[in-house]
Amino acid sequence: MDKIEIIGAGPAGVSAAYYLAKSGYNVVLYEANERLAKKPCGLGIPSAKNLPIEIKKEFIGKVIKGVTLYVDEMKTVDENDFLEGYIIDKESFLESLVVESGAEIRKKSSYNPLKSMVRENGKPREIKKGMLAGGFTFYKGEKINALQTVVKSRDLEDLNKLIIFFDTEIIGYYWIFPGINGTEVGIGGYRDINNLKKLLERFIRKNYMLKASKVISPIVGAQIAVGGVSLDMHKNLTKIGEAAGFVFPLTGEGIRPSIISGIEAAKAIVNGKNPRERLEKADVTKAIKIQRRILRRVQTMERNKRREFLSLMPAQVHAEVALGRMNKQRIAMALARRPDLAIKLLKYIGD
Ligand SMILES: Cc1cc2nc3c(=O)[nH]c(=O)nc-3n(C[C@H](O)[C@H](O)[C@H](O)COP(=O)(O)OP(=O)(O)OC[C@H]3O[C@@H](n4cnc5c(N)ncnc54)[C@H](O)[C@@H]3O)c2cc1C
Repeated sequence: MDKIEIIGAGPAGVSAAYYLAKSGYNVVLYEANERLAKKPCGLGIPSAKNLPIEIKKEFIGKVIKGVTLYVDEMKTVDENDFLEGYIIDKESFLESLVVESGAEIRKKSSYNPLKSMVRENGKPREIKKGMLAGGFTFYKGEKINALQTVVKSRDLEDLNKLIIFFDTEIIGYYWIFPGINGTEVGIGGYRDINNLKKLLERFIRKNYMLKASKVISPIVGAQIAVGGVSLDMHKNLTKIGEAAGFVFPLTGEGIRPSIISGIEAAKAIVNGKNPRERLEKADVTKAIKIQRRILRRVQTMERNKRREFLSLMPAQVHAEVALGRMNKQRIAMALARRPDLAIKLLKYIGD
């Protein structure tokens, strides 16, 4: 049986391990932490349709049916009952995939990128070939900071949608997501951690939906890769997941693209093909490229132009782009009704 070694047991590494182990490979996952999914994460998969791995009922914390988007204070999208998304119990979900697939996992086994070594039973051993799914620290492109906490609020107990507030000043966003133990509230953007922390605290104090809420968890954070897909190799390791930029740059959504990248890379290996070539051509790579292009345009605009651009988008276009689904039919239909906006938008987005 062929042996495949994978560094990092997040959504990308575990998905690749799952597919390869189920296909008969002898898979070993090396994970630095003792527990999986330790990194802060909002746990939202906004659109689970066509996800290449089933999320079993027991790992679904909340069902997401809609999305509300704001640009600064202005509501631009409010769509209900058009999504099948989830807030997941990420740790149990990942653990179950490892167990079900029969992949071997070595926890508290950190890979040293300078020496290409992992420690096994206290002894260093070189990793010569395999996949690197170690997350944002291995990503060389642009990253933003993101922070989150959990609040308790009676008013939000039945929340079944994602609420995202794009902020044209910080070129980032605040989010309010249904959570498993409360409501997840967070911020991501081009600011340092201290500044984001202050902004998040102010948001919780001032936002009308959160006024009656109580913060029940410390503010924690990490970075998010927003520079787009970059399929550079690390030594002889193929990067997948956030390490290779599989994150939607406009919203910071990384679980779904990381899972897809892990499965796509694994499929290439099983079929004797080059994983990087398959990843380069994947639909998710194209969708990330479009978001990255929009983000770059938005970054170079003056603030009022930025606001105009984001609020110009018809609701369906905004939702399709923000969710990274890029359903061409929905986008075309929405733009067909507003040819004046289509021309403006295309001018911004470019070719
Ligand atoms: C505050 C915040 C909120 C977020 N909310 C959402 C959300 O709601 N929905 C969403 O889709 N995305 C969200 N994201 C992004 C999402 O968490 C990541 O994009 C996604 O988890 C990436 O998956 P991955 O498997 O590539 O990497 P990770 O999930 O980062 O997994 C990498 C794994 O590799 C391990 N590792 C790292 N270095 C080493 C090493 N040297 N040796 C061995 N193991 C190592 C880590 O411990 C980790 O387990 C959020 C991110 C942040 C920061």
